[in-house]
Amino acid sequence: MSTQDPPRPHQPFSILALLRARCPACHQGKVTEGLIGIRPKCATCEYNFYPESGFYLGAIAVGFLLTAALTIPPMIALKLMNVEIEILLGFPLVEFLFLGTFLTFYSKILWLHLEYKMSRSLESLDRVMDRESNPSAGTPNSP
Ligand SMILES: [Zn+2]
Repeated sequence: MSTQDPPRPHQPFSILALLRARCPACHQGKVTEGLIGIRPKCATCEYNFYPESGFYLGAIAVGFLLTAALTIPPMIALKLMNVEIEILLGFPLVEFLFLGTFLTFYSKILWLHLEYKMSRSLESLDRVMDRESNPSAGTPNSP
């Protein structure tokens, strides 16, 4: 993006951009580099994919929640169907054999999109609070 381009309007949350691992700000640039690496910034809009050091440690919590959501309900269903204990205990092992890399990857992408959504929400809240605390700002009669 050159310095003369107008800033792109902020994009709303998009599940399609999340699933395609695209930038949360412009939905165009790829987040990934190589197979599962994360680029330093967006090639299209230069949005920083590393807002702070250790940023992706928060993705561990997202990964835990995704894992729990994909494991606990099926295990309850298997228990209610009275399957054998070996199948019940083997289910999570087989599930993560196939889904482990996928979950780790998408927990990072989801964490990046959540951070973008939260920072935009906080920015708009700051603007509202500035207007409320100084309602005369911007009017011609302000002192
Ligand atoms: Zn972008």
